[in-house]
Amino acid sequence: MNARTPIALAPADSLTEAERTRILAKSALFAPPAQVDENGRRELVGLSREELTQAVVEFGEKPFRAKQIWHWIYHQGVRDFTSMSSIAKPMQAKLAEHFTIGRPGITTEQTSTDGTRKWLFQMRDKQQVETVYIPEEDRGAVCISTQVGCTLSCRFCHTGTQKLVRNLSAGEIIGQFMAARDSYGEWPTPQSEAPRLLSNIVVMGMGEPLYNYENLATALKIAMDHEGIALSRRRITLSTSGVVPMMDRAGAELGVNLAVSLHAVTDELRDEIVPLNRKYPIKELMAACHRYPSASNARRITFEYVMLDGVNDSEAEARELVRLLHGLPAKVNLIPFNPWPGSPYATSKRAQIERFANILNDAGYASPVRRPRGKDIMAACGQLKTESERARKAPAPAA
Ligand code: SF4
Repeated sequence: MNARTPIALAPADSLTEAERTRILAKSALFAPPAQVDENGRRELVGLSREELTQAVVEFGEKPFRAKQIWHWIYHQGVRDFTSMSSIAKPMQAKLAEHFTIGRPGITTEQTSTDGTRKWLFQMRDKQQVETVYIPEEDRGAVCISTQVGCTLSCRFCHTGTQKLVRNLSAGEIIGQFMAARDSYGEWPTPQSEAPRLLSNIVVMGMGEPLYNYENLATALKIAMDHEGIALSRRRITLSTSGVVPMMDRAGAELGVNLAVSLHAVTDELRDEIVPLNRKYPIKELMAACHRYPSASNARRITFEYVMLDGVNDSEAEARELVRLLHGLPAKVNLIPFNPWPGSPYATSKRAQIERFANILNDAGYASPVRRPRGKDIMAACGQLKTESERARKAPAPAA
């Protein structure tokens, strides 16, 4: 289904379609630039299947050509038309005159002592984002960004100190995952059951994904397409700070796993550390979680909870969290706070984190304490930040 197709959504009380329209209109103000290269060639990475077919037909070719190109780009991972051996050479040359198959440029690539790898990617307009690969024993997750900077200013988050510059395009979002696979040589896409090094996507990098919904949805549909990257929706986790109206839409259209950055159990505290709470308070957020379609026992919603010393880590707060989660298939990721230069908080004491976790575990909620990864390269949760800035408006000409 096209991301723009209106669909039936679960009822959301007072949260209306108008609210979604308002969010999407605001998001459009931060739209990425046209996806063309310096020679005016149109970027194919990031076009939906329908858009790719349309581009090929407008170019004067039959629709089946789009299916071939899709296979070469997303299954084989090729980056130029001359590698597309099922397409005749003169056609390859013609395609190369009009189209391009790009990747974000790599500014830096750092690998931590624990194997975590972080890239600073540069887009065509020189804006930069960070992407992190977190390897496990037999699999690994790529944490991708959706915006350059962020509007939300969560107080524990380094990215939140960087103003929103712009949204990433669908191609720039899926391109981060493809570039990460380039880095490990994981092309063509492994057969369905074969182990993959880069087996999961977590949309938890820079930005609030649901404030860039259209581009995110196109990118994730590309990732899930079974004739390309072919990642199951169960291997994709979308993390939000709680943009309630868009959670309904993401649930209906994408159905990927949901993670919610909760971090506090009272509106008073959450208003302060996740300011979006002032717009969508905890009660509305939890109601949206109950409506989320993957909220079944097999697919629990993950609640992210950063452990801030003396701020949100008391046993009373753990008990309140249990009360909030009641009736919801849920797991809680406890994240020891990862300090960054100038951050206003300290990490909770180990013993306190354990007491907190025990209360959740005793109530039947798995609550692993996240092992910080890539600390030595500032790749841990909430530490991502780039130097990209929104271009200042030119001063008005003197009258
Ligand atoms: S936690 Fe996420 S939503 Fe909040 S400021 Fe950081 S990047 Fe933005």
